[in-house]
Amino acid sequence: MPLILEAEGKDLFRKYGMNLSESILVKSAEEAKEASLKLGLPVVVKAQVLSGGRGKRGLIKLAKTPEEVIQHSIDILSMQSDGRQVTHLLIEEGADIADEYFISMVVDSATLETLILFSIEGGVDIETLAKEHPDKIDRIRIPYGGDHQPFMFMSTLAKRGLTGNIKISVAKIISILVTMMKEEDLTLAEINPLVITKSGEVVVLDARIMIDENANYRHPEREDYLSEDLRNTENEKDAKKHDLAYVDLGGEIGMLSVGAGLGMATADLIAIFGGSPRNFLDVGGGAGADKVEQALRIMIKDAGLKSILINAFGGITKLDEVATGIVAARDKFEQLKTGETPLVVRLMGTNVTEGIQILENAGIKAYTEMEPAIEAAVAAAKRN
Ligand code: GDP
Ligand code: MN
Repeated sequence: MPLILEAEGKDLFRKYGMNLSESILVKSAEEAKEASLKLGLPVVVKAQVLSGGRGKRGLIKLAKTPEEVIQHSIDILSMQSDGRQVTHLLIEEGADIADEYFISMVVDSATLETLILFSIEGGVDIETLAKEHPDKIDRIRIPYGGDHQPFMFMSTLAKRGLTGNIKISVAKIISILVTMMKEEDLTLAEINPLVITKSGEVVVLDARIMIDENANYRHPEREDYLSEDLRNTENEKDAKKHDLAYVDLGGEIGMLSVGAGLGMATADLIAIFGGSPRNFLDVGGGAGADKVEQALRIMIKDAGLKSILINAFGGITKLDEVATGIVAARDKFEQLKTGETPLVVRLMGTNVTEGIQILENAGIKAYTEMEPAIEAAVAAAKRN
């Protein structure tokens, strides 16, 4: 269940009328300075990365002068998170913090409930708090997608000492989050910290949100999320555009399967034969020659590839189509033509005779049994 960036989460919160500090998303220290002048100092410089705990890792810094904005931005933009360079910063108006609360909710799919966690001791690492002081975290369960009103949360908040407008505001925020879980197809929504400022304002300072990608058809704008871009490698993005299921795995053998189940079995067999898959690439049932060619084009862009194994079972997919795609790719791409990246093919199923004929005419050996093909691909990778 993928996380989205703080800036994206905060845009969602704004849509539901939550109270947030003004902020501007930037990509350079110069833009950061301009943003800080627009917002007014002090500002907080916040790295937009997918993993949490940024405060502890030096990825969030308070800046009181334009010089500090530039310096902190340069520092943070030179850092890495999740194996990637930081590329985006959220420049946010600084808040005068009096108290930090914690609100988190998840969908409990076993009971079909939304589980809400609340604590007045936010800001800190909540896992630590849960371990050392579980009594300081309240748990509320309500039916997922069911009716709810802010007053339903008020007795819990009152028990923790919240009164007046603060109690009402926090209860409303919880209620909005519960609504968002359903309407926005979220699997996690967390605000840590939810801040009470010295002037008594309730401000959402952080947003940690996971979306259910299976519901992205209801939220087409999420395709363009920066988090979507950060999550995927160049090859994964390219594959997505061509409707191919592709995941980088980091081994040595490029694996192309027709059918995802067969792909998983192939990955296991590669391991049993002493190799390791460099990727998972499934062209899906019913793929034509063009799709197979695209799949090979994407796969060979990866410099670490040592050999390629194509494992195709023709059900609704016609193997003459698969073979035509393989030959087209071999003729088009230099590293396949020269044999720099050895290609091992195994075909079985619909139109296998025609498929093998097409490959043989082009000088490509085709296996019909799985094991010898996998053995050959592993051996070719070791030699390479
Ligand atoms: P996380 O560490 O990735 O969860 O990032 P947060 O957005 O939660 O920020 C971490 C901590 O930085 C917060 O708990 C605050 O204590 C502090 N912080 C964030 N924004 C501000 C701000 O506007 N003013 C001040 N004084 N502190 C802030
Ligand atoms: Mn946080």
